[in-house]
Order: sequence, then structure tokens, then C-alpha cells
Amino acid sequence: MQANIPDPQQRKPIRRIVIAGGGTAGWMVAAGLSKSLGRRLDIRLIESDDIGTVGVGEATIPTLMNFHSLLEINEQEFMAATAATFKLGISFENWRAPGQDYIHSFGLTGTDHWMAGFQHFWHKGRERALAGDYGDYCLELKAAQAQRFAHLPRNGMNYAYHLDASRYAKFLRTFAESFGVTRIEAKIDQVQTDPASGDITALRLDSGTLVEGDLFIDCTGFRALLIGGAMQVAYADWSEWLLCDSAIAVQTESTGPALPYTRSIAREAGWQWRIPLQHRVGNGIVYSSRHTDEAQARAGLLANIDGAALTEPRLIRFTPGQRHQTWKGNCVAIGLASGFLEPIESTSIHLIQRGIIRLLQMFPSDGIHQSDVDEYNRQTSAEVEHIRDFIILHYHVTNRRDTPFWRACAEMAVPPSLRHRIALFRDSGRVFRTPNELFAENSWIQVMLGQGIMPAQHHQAADLMGDAELLAFLEGIRSAVNKTVLQLPSHQQYVERFCGVPKR
Ligand code: FAD
Repeated sequence: MQANIPDPQQRKPIRRIVIAGGGTAGWMVAAGLSKSLGRRLDIRLIESDDIGTVGVGEATIPTLMNFHSLLEINEQEFMAATAATFKLGISFENWRAPGQDYIHSFGLTGTDHWMAGFQHFWHKGRERALAGDYGDYCLELKAAQAQRFAHLPRNGMNYAYHLDASRYAKFLRTFAESFGVTRIEAKIDQVQTDPASGDITALRLDSGTLVEGDLFIDCTGFRALLIGGAMQVAYADWSEWLLCDSAIAVQTESTGPALPYTRSIAREAGWQWRIPLQHRVGNGIVYSSRHTDEAQARAGLLANIDGAALTEPRLIRFTPGQRHQTWKGNCVAIGLASGFLEPIESTSIHLIQRGIIRLLQMFPSDGIHQSDVDEYNRQTSAEVEHIRDFIILHYHVTNRRDTPFWRACAEMAVPPSLRHRIALFRDSGRVFRTPNELFAENSWIQVMLGQGIMPAQHHQAADLMGDAELLAFLEGIRSAVNKTVLQLPSHQQYVERFCGVPKR
């Protein structure tokens, strides 16, 4: 129990919300709170154009659609406003070994039996030389490879977006202002607290103005002015498992049709991203500063981009990890202020949205209850630790031993929760999802197979099928996937028709 939560008699109703920071996190919070509770709240957002935003964060996962449907955002308007493209998954290139690639797609693969997932039937098919690649049975994966896309009836294709981060913040700003959010352009130079409770009372701006509030949302990015500064919540540093701590980002001209997937290309001491938007490509390298230096990383990045650079390459340093508490007293941290793992599975914007939804579910209208704070922090930690494990998997399970970085990744001791998942899959092909975990069974299977784990055996349910029956089952799925893919238009054409914007 925190000492700074007042007893019920002193509890203050929450009406005045102050959002510190106007990056993707700040404006998503402003949009979410104003649309859902705006009529009952006074919401102000402070941001500084001089400081600016982190300027990256352009690949998303399908859950963003849930957030947009809560906000009743029109997809076509959103995509046109942010020059967005569709994303069907991530292509992991050279991760398992140089020259070997796989796609982690958003779709389901094959058809599960209640006793045993599709991977068991596929495994038996491989043993009997009846099955193709695991990905042959996944519509989204095959559509990604064929660079095709369309909206299908009954949400028949799972997808996310690549979007322009600065345009997204502007789009959400217009949205939030239409629901009554007030924007203040200023630099926060002091966070004032109540000595008795430790709660934040006001933010002092560089103009000397005090912005008072009941609840403060820290969206100040890596600076974490409120949660790390005034509230002094410590940071759990996970760099023993997540070795990458630096990134260099650069935007380039598009040189061809936009791919409907993110490319993640493993390099000597990290990996490179390529995110195709309608009007440009976002590129960057994520690396471990313990294993290479900035000059080498920058040279490696610039040697591996297509199209002319549109911006100066920009260095971003980070410490992978998470605040021990993301809600303390009357301060909730959302976005980079709350923590950052690394961008490999595009989970950061998802975590922003989860923070907002969780806050709305536990909104302290009649004052802050410590039980809500504890529950919020418990759920956040469990969610982030699950994602952390999934990310470590990509680095740890690899055949690469060609550089000190990859040897360090392969040899590190991973968290026991991940060790167990890997052992379970390796021994028996089994994967189970605990409720509320972000990544479903098919994500774990695609990445574990893609990184090089072949289970030792399959469930005996698959042995109940004879060869002819198994072949018919597998071929039925594969040919249905291929038939659908052939009917889809090209992704580039579909985007141009659906939400096209001028190139620049
Ligand atoms: P910021 O964008 O840094 O915004 C901070 C805000 O606080 C700014 O408005 C700033 O002006 C304001 N501020 C700070 N200090 C003050 C002050 N003193 N006074 C007033 N205002 C202040 N996420 C994904 O989901 N997908 C990705 O593909 C992805 N790629 C990434 C790649 C890299 C290399 C990195 C580092 C991150 C990536 N992320 C990605 C994470 C994503 O960029 C962030 O989650 C997202 O942009 C939210 O950032 P933010 O709003 O928390 O912080």
C-alpha cells in the first residue's frame, strides 16, 4: 500500500486532467479520454514544439483497429490523413541464419483441432513428406508474399497499418480538440508536488503559468518528467536480455510499390527496419552499443537503404525496460515515459492503447483507490513481461554465431517463463495462451519455427489420420489460401484506390 493515497474522507473527485506531452502517446490519451469521458472532464495537453517528439513509431499491430473503433474513427479518413499502408506481418530476414527468412503474419495458420493445434498436423505432414512450408496454410502470409491486399467479408483478413507518426499525432490532435481538449504550447520547467501526500499539484510552464490538475498523465517520452522525476519511480532495466539500446532513423524516398509488410533484417549487431508508407519509407537500424559503435551502425544503415534520404540520420538512445509502477499517486505514465522494450514487434503503440483502455476501465472519478492503482500496475507488468519474453525469443533462438552480438544473444540465460515456453514447444509442439496475453499461439509457433525450433514430436491426434486423409486436409487448406490470394488486387493499387495521397 502506497503511503501517498489519501483516506476516503480526503479523496478528491477527478475532473481536471493534465496530459504532459503531445507525441503519439499524449494525443492518443487525449483522443481516448475526450471521446469517452470528455463531457465530464476538463482535459488539457501541454507540448513543446521546441522539444519535439521521438519521430518514429510507424508500424502497428491489428489491435489498433480496436482503439479506432472505440473512437469511431473512419478507416479511410485515418489512412489518407496518415499516408498509411496495410501491414500483414513482419518479414524476418537473416534472423535464423544469414540467407534464411520467414514471415510472422497476423493471420491464423491452418485449422486447429480442439485437442491439438494445426502445427501437429503439419508436423506429421512434414514427416510423411506431405506438407509444404508452415506459412503455405496462412492467407495473410501468402497475401503478403504476393504483395496483394483487400478487405474481405467477415474480417477475413487480419491486418494492421504502417503510418506516418507525425501525421498521426496531428490527426488525433484535430480529433481530440473537437471533443474539447485544450492544447497548451509551452515547456514544462517544474513539476510541483504536495509535500504531505506526494501527489502532483501543478506543472509550471516556462512562462511562469501554473497548470493545476487532479490527475496527471505523463506522456513526456524518454524524459519521464513526472513519473521518473517528481514521483521518483525507478526503472527496471532489462538490458541483460534485450541487448539493443540505440537506434538510428532515416526517411527515404519510395522506389517501388509499398510492401504490405514490415521488413526486419538482422545485421551484425542488431537489425534494420523498413516501413513502407504511401509517400516515403521509414528506415532505421536498432543496435547494441556494446557490440558496435554509432559510426559503424550509421554506415551499415546508409549502405542498405533504397531511395534518396529525405532526412538526416538521427540517433536515439534508450534503455530497454519498464517502470516498476506506471501509476503512482495521481500520476499515470503512458508511452515511452512508462518504458520501452524495443521496436521489433511494433508493440509500443499497442501498449499505449492498452494503458488508455485500462485507465478508462479503472477511471478514478470519485477519487483514487489504491486497489485500482495496484490492479492497474499488476496488469501492466504482466502484459509487458509477456511481450518482453516474445521479443527475447527472436534473439535467443537462432543458429547465428557469426558475431559477438549473436553469440551473446544465443548464450544468455533467458527468463524462466520463456525458457519453459521454448522447452514445451521443442519437446511436444505445444503452445498455450494465457488469457489477456497479446501474442496468440500462432505468433509463438511462427516465430519459434521461423527461428529454427522443430518440435521433437506431434500430438497423437494427427496420427489418427492416414496419409491420404492428411494430404487431403492439408491440400484443401493450401488450395483455398492460394485461390483467395489470386483473387486479391495488388496492395499498391488497393491503397491508391482506397485512401491514396500524393507522393509528397
Ligand atoms: P514522444 O514522441 O517523445 O513525445 C514526448 C512529448 O513530450 C513531446 O510532445 C514533447 O514535446 C513533450 N515533452 C517532453 N518534455 C517536455 C517538457 N519539458 N515540456 C513540454 N513538453 C515536453 N512503436 C510502435 O508501436 N511501432 C514502431 O514501429 C515503433 N518503432 C520505434 C522505433 C524506435 C527507434 C523507437 C525509439 C521507438 C519506436 N516505437 C515504435 C515507439 C513509439 O515511437 C512510441 O511509443 C510513440 O512514438 C510514443 O512516444 P511518446 O509519445 O511516448 O514520446
